[in-house]
Amino acid sequence: LSMADELTGLYNRRYFDEQGELLFERAVRYNRPLSVILGDIDHFKNVNDTYSHAMGDEVLRRIGELLSAKARATDLVARYGGEEFVIAFPETTLAQATATCELLRQRIESYAWDTLHADLRITISIGVCADTHLKNMGEMVSAADKLLYKAKQAGRNRVCSE
Ligand code: GH3
Ligand code: MG
Ligand code: MG
Repeated sequence: LSMADELTGLYNRRYFDEQGELLFERAVRYNRPLSVILGDIDHFKNVNDTYSHAMGDEVLRRIGELLSAKARATDLVARYGGEEFVIAFPETTLAQATATCELLRQRIESYAWDTLHADLRITISIGVCADTHLKNMGEMVSAADKLLYKAKQAGRNRVCSE
């Protein structure tokens, strides 16, 4: 249970940090591709403020479901912080991960959020890193975070991979 995030049922940050580092070491040793993505829900504070904290929690659960629905058994999907999600994709290049993120982004944007509330709209911004020449998984996540920031600056609801 200590590896699960209680709200979403995804892995928690601690588990991601442990297992992600192992995925990193394996990718480097065998010279295999590895991608990491960091996603952050756009204007999520508004969801809590406009609707309710319970509605915010339900949105987080649904996002967790949407992210794990397309994942392979070998992908490591985790809730990284409040409204931040991280996924490590073994054997996946930058181009492949970016395409997957674009699919996830569209799926979240077009999800039937109006079944929760008529006016509810949810989007996500995502940063993608596939640079296994960095020192460790923590540095890959930091690089993805910088690109996530860039996606926010560029107007949100988008994927940034460079
Ligand atoms: P941005 O588009 O820049 O990411 O804006 P934002 O509003 O999503 O970002 P900000 O960091 O200002 O707010 C994040 C909010 O997420 C604030 C916090 O109350 C909420 N949050 C964090 N964890 C939870 C949770 O477990 N449940 C709920 N309902 N809200 C949460
Ligand atoms: Mg955030
Ligand atoms: Mg946010």
